[in-house]
Amino acid sequence: MSIPIVRKVLEKNERAAEENRALFAARGWTCVNILGGAGCGKTTLLEAVIPRLRESCHIAVLEGDLATTRDAERIDALGVPVVQLLTDGGCHLTAIHVSHALDHLAVEDVDLLLIENVGNPVCPANFDLGEHARIALLSVTDGDDKPSKYPLLFRTANLVVLSKSDLLPAVNFNTEAVSHDVHRINPSVEIVLTNTASSEGFDTVTHWIRSLDSLRARCGTVSVH
Ligand code: MG
Ligand code: ZN
Repeated sequence: MSIPIVRKVLEKNERAAEENRALFAARGWTCVNILGGAGCGKTTLLEAVIPRLRESCHIAVLEGDLATTRDAERIDALGVPVVQLLTDGGCHLTAIHVSHALDHLAVEDVDLLLIENVGNPVCPANFDLGEHARIALLSVTDGDDKPSKYPLLFRTANLVVLSKSDLLPAVNFNTEAVSHDVHRINPSVEIVLTNTASSEGFDTVTHWIRSLDSLRARCGTVSVH
C-alpha cells in the first residue's frame, strides 16, 4: 500500500512545482536549488557567490532548515532578502514549502532566487521545486564514495561542487575517482573544486550561475575592466 501513497505525494509535489515554474516564468525569475548533506558548505557557497552576483542581479534566498534560523541569519547579514523555511523535522523541501515561502518574500524585483535545501544528500533530490537548475555539493571531508551511494543527487545536478578542497591533503579523497563516478552517472555535468581559504572555484560557480540562459538575458555578463 505504500507505493500509491508515495506516488500521490510526488504527484502533488509535481503540480506545485509546475505552479512555481509558471510563477518564476511570469516574473522572469531564475531559480537555483542547492542540495547536499549537512555541513557540506551550502550556506558558505551562498556567502561566496552572493557578493559576486549582487552587482548585476537582484537576489533573494529561501533557506530550508529542520529547526533553526542560523543559516538565514548568515544570509540576512549580507543584506539580501531571505525567508526561513522550517520543515519541523522534515528532511527535504517540497514545492509546496517553496510556494508558501514565496508568499512571505517581501520583494518582487528579483532576478535570481537561490534555495538552500535541507542538509541531506538523499530525499531532497526527489523533489522538484520548480527550479531552473540544481547545484549538488559534496565536501571532500564527506568521503569519495558518496556519488555511488547517493546517485540521484548527482544524476539530477546541473553543477557539482566539491567543497573544502584545501583539506584534500588531510583526507583520503580521490578527486579523479569521484569525477569518474559522477560522470558515469551524469556524463556532461561540470565539476568545480571550491574552498574559502583560497577562494578557489567561487568565480567559476558565479560565472556558471550568471550564464544560465534565463538569467543571462536579465543580468548579462559583467565585463571586467
Ligand atoms: Mg546551511
Ligand atoms: Zn526527506
